[in-house]
Amino acid sequence: MYVSGHILTSVLVAKLGAKSVNLGFGITAAIMIATSLIDADHLFYYYLDDGTASSFALHPLHRFWYLVVGTALVSTFVFKRARPYLIAVFMGLALHFMMDYVADRAQYDLLSLAVLDVVAYVVTLILVKFKRWSVVFLTASLIVPYGVNGFLLYGLDIAVDSSPIYHIATIIMLSVAALFARKALK
Ligand SMILES: [Zn+2]
Repeated sequence: MYVSGHILTSVLVAKLGAKSVNLGFGITAAIMIATSLIDADHLFYYYLDDGTASSFALHPLHRFWYLVVGTALVSTFVFKRARPYLIAVFMGLALHFMMDYVADRAQYDLLSLAVLDVVAYVVTLILVKFKRWSVVFLTASLIVPYGVNGFLLYGLDIAVDSSPIYHIATIIMLSVAALFARKALK
C-alpha cells in the first residue's frame, strides 16, 4: 500500500483502538503512522521495484514480517512500563503488513488503492466527527502523497525504479505526518 493509505488506515484504527490501549487518540495515531517507516527498507532494492512489486518478496523487513510483528508482540510483555506504547507499535506494524497484503492482492492497481484510501478517509472523518484540524490533517494525508509522487513521476519524469527519491519522499512524508498527528488529532 502507498503512503496515503498507510496514514489513513493507521488513524482509523487508532481512533477505534486508542481507548482500549489506554492512550490518547493523537499519540496512538502518531505511533501507528510512525511504524510505517518500516518502508525505509525499500531503499535497499528500490531499483527492482517499479511500484508494483510484492513487498513481501523483495524488501528485507517485509520478507521477515513475522519476525518484526513477533518481536513487537513479545516486547509488549517484556517492557511492562512502556506497554501501551508498544501495543500501539504492534498494532501499527500488524496493520501495515495487513494493508500491504491487501495491496499486493490488488496487484497495486492504483484505482483500487485510491478507492480504499478514500473509503478510509471518509470513515475516519465520520469517526472524528469532522473536527477542524482532523479534517485538515486527513485531507492533507490523502492528497499530498499522491501529489508528491505524481509530481516526481509526471512532472520530473523520474521512473519509480530509477531513483530512491520516492522512498526518501515516503520517509519524509511519514515522519511529518507522525509529528503532526499528535497535535492535529485530539
Ligand atoms: Zn510496506
